Amino acid sequence: MTAITANQINLDNNGIDSIKLQEWDQKHHMHPWAEVSTEKPTFGIVTEGKGIYLYDHTGKKYIDGPGGMWCVNVGYGRKEIASAVSNQLTKLPYSSPWTSTTEPASILAKRISDKTPQGLNNVFFSTCGSTAIDTAIRFVHFFNNIMGKRNKKIIIGREKGYHGSTFLSASVSGKERDKRHLDTEQDLVRFLPDINPYNRPTGMNIDAWCDEKIVDLEKCICEAGPENVAAFIAEPILASGGVIIPPKGYHQKALEVCKKNNVLYISDEVVTGFGRLGHWFASEEVFGIKPDIITCAKGLTSGYMPMGATIISDKLIKSLNDKCKKSTLFSHGFTYSGHPAAAAAALKTMDIIEDEKILNHVRQVSPHFQDRLQALGDKHEIIGDARGIGLLGCLEGNIGSGLTESETLSVDYEFGSLIDAATEKRGLLVRPIINMCVFSPPLIITKTEIDNMFDILDDSLNEVQNIVLSKKT
Ligand code: PLP
Repeated sequence: MTAITANQINLDNNGIDSIKLQEWDQKHHMHPWAEVSTEKPTFGIVTEGKGIYLYDHTGKKYIDGPGGMWCVNVGYGRKEIASAVSNQLTKLPYSSPWTSTTEPASILAKRISDKTPQGLNNVFFSTCGSTAIDTAIRFVHFFNNIMGKRNKKIIIGREKGYHGSTFLSASVSGKERDKRHLDTEQDLVRFLPDINPYNRPTGMNIDAWCDEKIVDLEKCICEAGPENVAAFIAEPILASGGVIIPPKGYHQKALEVCKKNNVLYISDEVVTGFGRLGHWFASEEVFGIKPDIITCAKGLTSGYMPMGATIISDKLIKSLNDKCKKSTLFSHGFTYSGHPAAAAAALKTMDIIEDEKILNHVRQVSPHFQDRLQALGDKHEIIGDARGIGLLGCLEGNIGSGLTESETLSVDYEFGSLIDAATEKRGLLVRPIINMCVFSPPLIITKTEIDNMFDILDDSLNEVQNIVLSKKT
């Protein structure tokens, strides 16, 4: 959301007006992924949410195209989640996970295990997606150390992959532009080149592209030496890299290569988990793979509370057990691992998904969502690629083609902000990522709401196209 011009509106009975709030925010609040300057950007004030809609401080209503940050899967205003959290906080706000368990945490671990592919039954709770990834990587290193393979440490990630913002999760993320001024671990990480089928050479068919991508993985393992490679980490769909859908068969072939080389497979389902593709988890149900470790967060609590989880296979735990003959201390964890109130929010989220048959709903409305998305790509000249799966979508602009890299970047950013402004004006929030616009609305979105969303996008793209064309002439 871009800055909303603040009208002086009293926001609550503290008498704090919107102008003051934006001033304080601008002066003191450092937002994620925001410019650092004494002149910080001004953010719009969101005051309320209901269903798929958000309301700003002026009362203006918006369709929430990104579903928060790919997370508010069951929609806003769920009083039953608020009550579950409130009841839990009143009864027991906290108990140390080092020395005890709680009702919601243990029930949640069991319920998650019931939804994962068979054989993935060991749930380690954390506080968000990044810490779920850190947990996965630290566990893999721990595992190899115990198994006597102390050199097996390298993690293979992918260009445009995103796994988080802690040092370790950022180190395995492959979005180069995000790393320009930040340090990351380099020695223990390797990256595979772009797998986006849209960027394949002209004339190459998808199967050949898939084969090439698998060769990239094999080559990477071979060059580093399989004895040094610990794990391959992959989002089933590269979400914030621009909803990149690997070619058909890619995941299965990648898993085979990993197995052949004793490389563990970490499937990062922080975005795809909990219904985004119409299933609890996408790894097996959509892509036919049973990874060694799955990470999740976001949809787990539908954004109502912060929580992440790392689910580890029985096979790995058993191997550790067999090797040690007695238990081994995994010296890793967070004060808020399995926080009872977050677990209560997750349990209620799972109830809602089941009671309202939301997975089924996603499978029913997704084809319509994807048809409307595709139609925009076909209609608008400024769109180079329209792609998506389930309730995930991306429109990639092509107005920078033919320019130099630095010219392209500024035109690309401009494209993103033009779309952002045009849609916001019409009551739709989108998430511009450079020259892309990604969508992941709450999963409860109806067919009519999908139509409203794409009608707004259609009008907005007409407006942006006119602006772009008028600049060219
Ligand atoms: N993994 C994926 C696939 C993500 O998209 C994200 C966040 O967008 C993360 C991990 C990190 O999650 P968090 O921001 O909750 O730390």
